Amino acid sequence: MLYTVPDYYEQFQCIAGKCEDSCCAGWEIVIDPKTLQKYRAVKGGFGNCLHNSIQFHQSCFKQYEGRCAFLNDQNLCEIYSELGPELLCETCKKYPRHEEEYEGVRDLSLALSCPEVARILLGHKERVRFIEKENHKEVDEEDFDEFNFLLYTKLVDARSCMIGTMQNRMLPVHVRAAICFAFSHDLQNRIKKQEYDTMDRLINRYKSERIVAYLVNKLNAYKGQDKERFAVIKKQMGLLFHLEVLREDWKDWIKDAYRELYGNGLTAYVRKRKKFLSYMEKNKELNNAFEIQWEQLYIYFLYTYFCGAVYDENVYSKMKLAIMSPIYIQELCQARWQMRGKVTFADIVEIAHHYAREVEHSDSNLKKMERAFQKKREYYFEKMITVLLS
Ligand code: SF4
Repeated sequence: MLYTVPDYYEQFQCIAGKCEDSCCAGWEIVIDPKTLQKYRAVKGGFGNCLHNSIQFHQSCFKQYEGRCAFLNDQNLCEIYSELGPELLCETCKKYPRHEEEYEGVRDLSLALSCPEVARILLGHKERVRFIEKENHKEVDEEDFDEFNFLLYTKLVDARSCMIGTMQNRMLPVHVRAAICFAFSHDLQNRIKKQEYDTMDRLINRYKSERIVAYLVNKLNAYKGQDKERFAVIKKQMGLLFHLEVLREDWKDWIKDAYRELYGNGLTAYVRKRKKFLSYMEKNKELNNAFEIQWEQLYIYFLYTYFCGAVYDENVYSKMKLAIMSPIYIQELCQARWQMRGKVTFADIVEIAHHYAREVEHSDSNLKKMERAFQKKREYYFEKMITVLLS
């Protein structure tokens, strides 16, 4: 099995009781069948406690006021302290480690929804490197009968080219994102027509400095369209109201941010946005340059989701998720700045992990977003580029 991991992967250590947002609260934790069997077999006082606090039919822990029944007042897990780490279910053992599965390959990542991961990712100053490791241990392979290996290899090559573009620090970060977006648009056309043999040429084209310079020049036409950008981003932000809510405070948060950002109309928004961007460029409280944080966010979403297009051939909407997620986070940061007069590193960590928690851990939300990306006009090519560059 070939594993790919980002270079900061081993840096993660759970901070447990010191965590500001325990992963044992705010969502349903599904228990795998093997662990469920083990829980059934536990005897004595703690055995009773387990039997009373697990919904065996639904294979999940009961919750009280949104918290896992086993999370104590110190935000520590009672199963861990009573039975040890071996008796944690697979979800709890793994989180925030995440795996995307492909035939013979696993892409490992750390979920941004964990605040400690968000701190590591947003504080990562160097360009992230992705390390490949071969492991010859036997693993239970799923059935990958229909796996399109040819498409997968093209996607991996395209993703690696895009990561290279995203890490080209000679260009403004949103310009890099716009080039990758244009690339994914061209790639989608090739996939639609099943023109796999022309994909290598396309990938090489996007690697060429001459083409990049040509695109940078062409993309200049999308700058300065404040009015159009305002109309589009307002609609795009509206999508967040239609998602399943995992934590109640998220709903109010979005509502307040939306009102704050767009409630006073175009002129106020444009004026405040300019001030916000210049504030962020000079902001010394970010632990890392603002541009680098956005590079890390784009790459996080790109790395995690892009190759999933091997299963549905929707590379373009995977890319839209990778582009829109940092944009949503940035808009929420602007709202925070407008409301509090400053944005610290802790604010960006809070906003990014909260966004990831709502979006990435709900299949229904990921599907709803993908549908909107495919159908709604505000996610068409030109609108997206305008939002990135204006
Ligand atoms: S969210 Fe992350 S740091 Fe916090 S308790 Fe969970 S794994 Fe640990």
